[in-house]
Amino acid sequence: MPQEVNRRTFLKGVTLGAFGLGSVAAVGNLLEILTFPNGQKVALAKGVILADKSICSGCRVCEIVCANFNSSGRNTPSLSRIIMEKEIIGGDYQPKVCHQCADPPCLKACPVTALQVDKQQGTYARIIDERACIGCQRCVEACKQHFRPARPRYDAERRHSVKCHLCFGDPQCVKYCPLGVLRVEKSDKGLMVGYPIIQED
Ligand code: SF4
Ligand code: SF4
Ligand code: SF4
Repeated sequence: MPQEVNRRTFLKGVTLGAFGLGSVAAVGNLLEILTFPNGQKVALAKGVILADKSICSGCRVCEIVCANFNSSGRNTPSLSRIIMEKEIIGGDYQPKVCHQCADPPCLKACPVTALQVDKQQGTYARIIDERACIGCQRCVEACKQHFRPARPRYDAERRHSVKCHLCFGDPQCVKYCPLGVLRVEKSDKGLMVGYPIIQED
């Protein structure tokens, strides 16, 4: 890394992530913007959704709410930006949520900068400008290199991709989960989460 302070910050995030803070890592005393080896500066997300899978019943309310709220009432689970999976071994349900990666592969893969950091709403979530998106799905493929299933999804009817934008600061899935499985982790200093800390879950 080009700057020592960034290297320390990066390693602190790795350490916290490695000590079992779940599939999404930790909040640190971080710089708001990290510089990565490729020289790109990406402002850290200030919020991320965490899921406690141990209490999830698999009711899929989160998926229904997300699809309805974010896709003009189209109640289609494939349009939900939170994805419910049932583990093959053990049969536990696991809501899969975008990690709002510190160094987001999806954002860097987008050829038309439709994937952006949401500074306007102040969440700094990695969001897709659906008017700018050309539907190439490179973001889907880039995410899939690190996380399965890929968190961005393709809206075939409207020919663009969609992803979690934290509901622009008011996450509906968190609000309506009947068991309190989901919560929002916030930090004004930014969150060292997702890639490159976590590469698979
Ligand atoms: S790479 Fe995937 S998990 Fe990371 S910010 Fe992009 S969509 Fe979310
Ligand atoms: S599908 Fe849209 S957001 Fe994703 S990489 Fe292509 S243009 Fe960018
Ligand atoms: S925060 Fe909003 S966009 Fe993200 S998964 Fe929840 S309901 Fe969907």
